[in-house]
Amino acid sequence: MPKDCQEKFVRSIEGFESAKITQYGYAVEYDFFDPRELHETLETRKIKNLYFAGQINGTTGYEEAAAQGLVAGANAALSFLGKDPWTPGREESYLGVLIDDLVTLGTKEPYRMFTSRSEHRLILREDNADQRITEKAYKVGLVSESRYKIFSEKKNKIIKEKDKLAKLFLRPEDEKIYSSLKIKEPKSATSFLDLLKRPDLDFQDLAKAFSIETPDNDIVFDIETNQRYSGYIKRQMDEIEKMKKNRNAHIPSNFDYSNVKGLSAEITQKLSKVEPRTLAQAWRIPGITPAAISALMVYLKRNETETADKNARGSTRES
Ligand SMILES: Cc1cc2nc3c(=O)[nH]c(=O)nc-3n(C[C@H](O)[C@H](O)[C@H](O)COP(=O)(O)OP(=O)(O)OC[C@H]3O[C@@H](n4cnc5c(N)ncnc54)[C@H](O)[C@@H]3O)c2cc1C
Repeated sequence: MPKDCQEKFVRSIEGFESAKITQYGYAVEYDFFDPRELHETLETRKIKNLYFAGQINGTTGYEEAAAQGLVAGANAALSFLGKDPWTPGREESYLGVLIDDLVTLGTKEPYRMFTSRSEHRLILREDNADQRITEKAYKVGLVSESRYKIFSEKKNKIIKEKDKLAKLFLRPEDEKIYSSLKIKEPKSATSFLDLLKRPDLDFQDLAKAFSIETPDNDIVFDIETNQRYSGYIKRQMDEIEKMKKNRNAHIPSNFDYSNVKGLSAEITQKLSKVEPRTLAQAWRIPGITPAAISALMVYLKRNETETADKNARGSTRES
């Protein structure tokens, strides 16, 4: 804002009528390179062996810049060594979401890595980052032998423990166990792993009731978290599949987005302005979140069913 505007604005506030500004606000502007001109490795399409990372690709933020630097640097080195490139997937990391968004959609405003940009939010967790990334990072030489050894040991412990717990059952005749857990008699044999899905039971309680040893805290946390949220994670994966299947769903012209529950004012405005013809087009508008697409899809489907029902009733009456 020009200085006179800043003065006018500040002095419009009651009590600040005679305020003097000693340091004026300033805007930071920068040019950027259209990231759609990049490969997923962050190598420029036009000039081989030239990689771009950071603010030059239209992002803003320290982590955004550092994350791209990691991918661009790793790929430059892999290319030099004559090895296959590495590009993280959207379901693997926020880094994958960031790069996929940039190289496929481009950006019209400084891009920040909001968690809402990911359709796999329940999977992209801090507690499972090692399991999502270490194996791949090791293959491309970004993880040391000693770190990989620690990771492999943990992974094997989890596999072994889960295997054991899947074979451990609470049966209707195990009255001592279910009464000590203060739960009802199970209708059928239920595994320790399935019992962990219940919000009223935790690993420690179950281990005590089954008289088994409790493994290390990080193993307990991993198994407990994955079991407890497995239903939600499955639902999210099903929704993503549904969205992919319905990507060609038609959006009527003059569609009133304000009728769709769950859309923010900003998203309603963006969609009304762009007027996408299909769900896939809506998905590609920068800033439109997977949650918004999901809400839109549910609304369109419901409308479609209601219209079909109405038409069917109409034709029955006519006949
Ligand atoms: C005032 C301000 C506050 C900010 N606050 C935050 C914040 O709180 N949190 C946050 O996450 N982000 C913040 N940001 C954004 C963040 O700083 C940047 O997005 C990020 O640092 C960009 O990193 P980069 O490595 O891509 O670019 P830069 O850090 O700009 O690095 C580019 C480097 O290239 C050098 N260079 C340019 N041209 C040439 C050339 N021809 N030859 C050689 N070298 C060259 C430059 O000197 C510079 O050192 C802020 C930005 C500003 C301006």
